[in-house]
Amino acid sequence: MIDAKSYKLLLIDDDEDEYILTRDLVNDMQGHHKLDWVDQYETGIKWVLQGAHDVYFVDYFLGDKTGVDLLKAVRERGSRAPVIILTGLDDNGIDLEALEAGATDYLQKSAINATLLERAIRYAVRQQYNQNRLEDLVQQVSHLEQLKTDMIRIAAHDLRNPLTVIFGYIDLLQSDLKDKLEPDYFQYLVQIKSSVEHMRQIVGDILSLERIAELSGGYTDPVDFSKIVREVYDRYATQATHDFELELPDETVIVYGAKAELREAVANLLSNAVKYTPENGRIVVHLSVDADVALFTVTDNGYGIPLEMQDKLFQPFYRAKSKETRMIDGTGLGLHLVKNIIERHNGHIHFESEYLKGSTFGFMLPQVGDD
Ligand code: ADP
Repeated sequence: MIDAKSYKLLLIDDDEDEYILTRDLVNDMQGHHKLDWVDQYETGIKWVLQGAHDVYFVDYFLGDKTGVDLLKAVRERGSRAPVIILTGLDDNGIDLEALEAGATDYLQKSAINATLLERAIRYAVRQQYNQNRLEDLVQQVSHLEQLKTDMIRIAAHDLRNPLTVIFGYIDLLQSDLKDKLEPDYFQYLVQIKSSVEHMRQIVGDILSLERIAELSGGYTDPVDFSKIVREVYDRYATQATHDFELELPDETVIVYGAKAELREAVANLLSNAVKYTPENGRIVVHLSVDADVALFTVTDNGYGIPLEMQDKLFQPFYRAKSKETRMIDGTGLGLHLVKNIIERHNGHIHFESEYLKGSTFGFMLPQVGDD
């Protein structure tokens, strides 16, 4: 079916005979199209940039320039107009050159007839329409994405303070009313407090994610990573709910990085090992160096993770819930956060886990050399 719409066409060709030929073809077409003509390279560029036509036909030979030069010039200046390159040559190289420069199509003059020309015009117009639509959609999606990020961030920022206040007062109520409230009512307070704490964790993790997304990487400050591991380890090991062990190398391990983020990454892996290992289980924290790489791992003999849940662990908000871990509190953001931090430090995160046997989570970081 031939589109009856009339299009405004422009031919850029320094040969008037070609214009007359093309005009005759256009007149033979079924739609009522209008063909304008420009015979100069510079004027051609100006007209394409004005964008008043639906499709532009550009001859390959334009004095000492080519149609592809013209095409590149208008594309560099931001024009996305549909441009069809015309040539008298049967040269495969030119069609490729034209398409790479952003031509919508390429036609060999000797093969053109009214039907082919009409089809090329409709194809070019359709291409242009699809391209515009795609660009609009991309813009809309990135706008929505930005809006979503802003909303999450604003919500997280604005929720943090009220949640801290609520948490503080519930804490006060709990200690003041401990012996005055009926056990059932007291239990309500315990529940409220635990839910508020969960909300605080989510808000905290979202804010950490936001902070980390803003980090650019490319760290140049040397950081004593062994010291970070030892400090975080001491914080957890003193809780003494589990059997802890620390394995550190004799030498100090230095990496380039941001102390607070690295501390957060180590703490997240340790807190997961504590959370997902039953009391009195064993947790081994290990740091070693191999060539120029620091290797950090946390191994536990806890609940482990069912195999079919393992490939989603680093997705934000994903929680691998098994019979044993269903009731354990968490946000599903911790591992995503750790992965982000480590990758920004040019490192790699890795893990192994066997359901009901235990897990090892760890990462490798490039170590600062001696030179
Ligand atoms: P969260 O602990 O807040 O749920 P994470 O992103 O830190 O979120 O972890 C994602 C999931 O991975 C957890 O819900 C848990 O099921 C599983 N997981 C992480 N670390 C361990 C571990 N050491 N042992 C068993 N399961 C783990």
